[in-house]
Amino acid sequence: MTGFLDQDIKFLPGVGPKRAELLAKELNIKTFGDLVYYFPYKYIDRTKFYKISEVHAQMPHIQIKGEIRSMDTVGTGHKQRLTARFYDDTGSIELVWFQSVKWQLEHLELNKEYIVFGKPSEFNGRINVVHPEMETEEEKQLKPAGLFQAHYVTTENMKKKYLLSKTINKFQLTLISLAKGKIKETLPEHITRKLKLVSLEEALTIIHKPENTIDLKNARFRLKFEELFIIQLKILALKHNRENKFKGFRFEKVGFNFNKFYSDFLPFELTNAQKKVLKEIRRDVNRNVQMNRLLQGDVGSGKTLVALMTMLLAMDNGFQSCMMAPTEILAQQHFQSVSNFLNGMGIEVGLLTGSTKASERKVLHEALEAGKLQILIGTHALIEDVVNFQNLGLVVIDEQHRFGVAQRAKLWQKNDLIPPHVLVMTATPIPRTLAMTVYGDLDVSVIDELPPGRKPIETHHFFENRRKQVYNFMRQQMEKGRQIYVVYPLISESEKMDLKNLEEGFRHISEAFPEAKVGMVHGRMKPVQKENAMQKFKQGETRIMVATTVIEVGVDVPNASVMVIESAERFGLSQLHQLRGRVGRGAEQSYCILMSSYKISNESRKRLATMVRTNDGFEIAEVDMKLRGPGDLEGTQQSGVGFDLKIANLGKDGEILKLARDVASEILSGDPFLQKEENRVLLENLKATKQNEFDWSSIS
Ligand code: ADP
Ligand code: MG
Repeated sequence: MTGFLDQDIKFLPGVGPKRAELLAKELNIKTFGDLVYYFPYKYIDRTKFYKISEVHAQMPHIQIKGEIRSMDTVGTGHKQRLTARFYDDTGSIELVWFQSVKWQLEHLELNKEYIVFGKPSEFNGRINVVHPEMETEEEKQLKPAGLFQAHYVTTENMKKKYLLSKTINKFQLTLISLAKGKIKETLPEHITRKLKLVSLEEALTIIHKPENTIDLKNARFRLKFEELFIIQLKILALKHNRENKFKGFRFEKVGFNFNKFYSDFLPFELTNAQKKVLKEIRRDVNRNVQMNRLLQGDVGSGKTLVALMTMLLAMDNGFQSCMMAPTEILAQQHFQSVSNFLNGMGIEVGLLTGSTKASERKVLHEALEAGKLQILIGTHALIEDVVNFQNLGLVVIDEQHRFGVAQRAKLWQKNDLIPPHVLVMTATPIPRTLAMTVYGDLDVSVIDELPPGRKPIETHHFFENRRKQVYNFMRQQMEKGRQIYVVYPLISESEKMDLKNLEEGFRHISEAFPEAKVGMVHGRMKPVQKENAMQKFKQGETRIMVATTVIEVGVDVPNASVMVIESAERFGLSQLHQLRGRVGRGAEQSYCILMSSYKISNESRKRLATMVRTNDGFEIAEVDMKLRGPGDLEGTQQSGVGFDLKIANLGKDGEILKLARDVASEILSGDPFLQKEENRVLLENLKATKQNEFDWSSIS
């Protein structure tokens, strides 16, 4: 049986087949339900009136009351323009029409009270309102739209066919009046009662036709809650389902190697955050359930060490581990630091990347298969390769470009026996709200503390006029023995042009610092050349490294203490933060210098100011999400979770999200398959939702 909301939109009075087609094509609105869930993006408060003396050009919309005392036309034909002088008791303002001049002349009356509504602008130093809405008091009262006017996003194609925001508003009002008593509740009563939520029907009515701000707030809350709640319910059910389906290896004991490393080889105390995370991991791997844990920690917070100790834990319980890095350079670096840590322990570590020679590869394969090699480090090629482990118990993924829920699912589905435990590490902090959604099916650990003794990086923002001082400063630092990165952004669409930019930068820096050896690294170089250039910098042979963002990822040169970022306004916040993380790795005070042109947008200004203000990656991620919106953040597209949020905003609705997750979790713990009568409506709701990445029909 089709419900009220399933009806074809063309049957809504006033719509008809032509507009139905346009709505479907432009906004994907095909049914009554699609329309009523097409929410306004803003409301304009038509209860507020301004005095003409208060009006200035920066105001978004104004409403004023008064009368026209004179009208005038200028020009002829289609160039004709009508201007009217509009007065209240505080002054006058100009109203202008470029279109439908004739119609206005016939209908507007002098010395009659009108309500003028429009956007003020400035022209030749005078304030005017172009194409205002003109209404009498009676007309305004008769308006069905209510005093808060809802505004909807429309497209160019719709505007051409006169299907405007106003038109949509009219359709919505028709729809909600027809819908009275016909919209079924989609949340169980025990939730609406407990959280004092307004009914779905009420919420949908109010959202399109609010009478006051309190009602609107309640309606929005209800709709946001439901949207986030359904997502959380899906994700948590997915997790639940997985935990039921897959057993996990049990790492029962903390054994010889772990203990020996901890007491004799660890060169420093673990930070409290590292200890806490290790505890969380140990709990996970000792439950007979597969671990799926995300380890978040800012650059330099010591994630590698945590990974290493987890691998020792696996080893002590008779399991092999592997650790995957996104690039060859990083895999090598991990191999190096893990080997250094383990030096003297008598544990062999393997390295397998794209450039491992065939003969070495063969030896590695055999050792892995025979169970002679316990720890393997490599690139992603590692999983695709024909590597057969004897007994793989743990996979560590050092992941810059995040895996989505769906991709992760593949990883463990590869194995139809017991899948290995998975630890995903990310150095790009993401806001908690986003983590709960993108990584909602994982358990999350956070290292929120840097090892002691690190000096926070000092960050400064300079305009072009200070370049000389900046160069002097660079020179001083080099005289103290430090090394320097200078990073150029990708500016043009074409790689050739970018290379030219970079090469110019290289020449420029070489000329400015004749005393120093300057190196260069960029994405178009062959891996060997890149590696070569990096090695020279690492060994201190080159003192300045001119680079593109290829050095963004994990490269470790402790003696580099200055990061100069050219045209910093062109970089995103998380990129700036990643770049800055390349310095501050040694004992010396490090600096990040952001160079920008004078003319930068407000948003760029905020980004740079945020960088200067804080070193905290999580705070930066929050600002980033607020500035850009979560949809633009890396990782959300491939998340595999329906991210098409209609009303909730992950940047702003963190509290509601948390509530939604708690409620979902509570319900699932008492009724994992939603079989209770009181939750029946929820199961129906889930089955009906469109983006169905989880097959709900399979469980009932
Ligand atoms: P991440 O991978 O989180 O960016 P690393 O694991 O590379 O960070 O650690 C950064 C540096 O800090 C390394 O040189 C590492 O040896 C060191 N380090 C890690 N843990 C500690 C600690 N508890 N105390 C002091 N130094 C530490
Ligand atoms: Mg690292």
